[in-house]
Amino acid sequence: VVIDSSRIYVALMHHPVKNKAGDVVTTAITNLDLHDIARLARTYDLGGYYVVNPMPAQRELAGRIVSHWVEGFGSEYNPNRCDALRKISVVGTLDEAKAEIAAMHGSAPRVVATAARQADGAVGYPAMRREMEAGGPLILAFGTGWGLTDDFINGCDMALMPVSGRGGYNHLPVRAAVAIILDRLLGERA
Ligand code: SAM
Repeated sequence: VVIDSSRIYVALMHHPVKNKAGDVVTTAITNLDLHDIARLARTYDLGGYYVVNPMPAQRELAGRIVSHWVEGFGSEYNPNRCDALRKISVVGTLDEAKAEIAAMHGSAPRVVATAARQADGAVGYPAMRREMEAGGPLILAFGTGWGLTDDFINGCDMALMPVSGRGGYNHLPVRAAVAIILDRLLGERA
């Protein structure tokens, strides 16, 4: 069975995430996260990349960056970048993303949490690939700041096992975590 990657979405959550002290905060959108994760979404041919931020000024800024490269001067200057940034939708809440995906695919997406720390009941990559083969739309949710809150993770339908390297340290930049996880789930094995 082949996984239909157009049913797989990435969401980058700027809320609810933790800060260093463990408080629930909203983080700022970064330009690098827009560009790099959009290129990953394009490379693995995902359904889309949702940038989730409840602050209107942040969404407005992200929207301006995206439209510069998708519609403006940037689309002619760098067509590859245009092709990638087209994958981005900027929304205020994950529920908006879920509603859009449900309307597009005819069934509600399941949400999969990711974290550097292992969540209760986290599933490994072979099991997640089998879930994906089953066909329903699915959102892989990633954190910013000091990561997704425990409440958010517990409210997700599933959690994915953390990526581990060698030794105990595994605090990846979110862009690298998205790349490794998409490759484990969807990449071609040469
Ligand atoms: N400021 C950081 C940056 O620039 O990337 C953001 C850190 S944020 C906590 C990193 C996010 O990447 C996590 O919320 C999680 O979604 C994912 N992540 C990081 N390390 C991971 C790992 N070892 N396994 C799975 N996901 C991981």
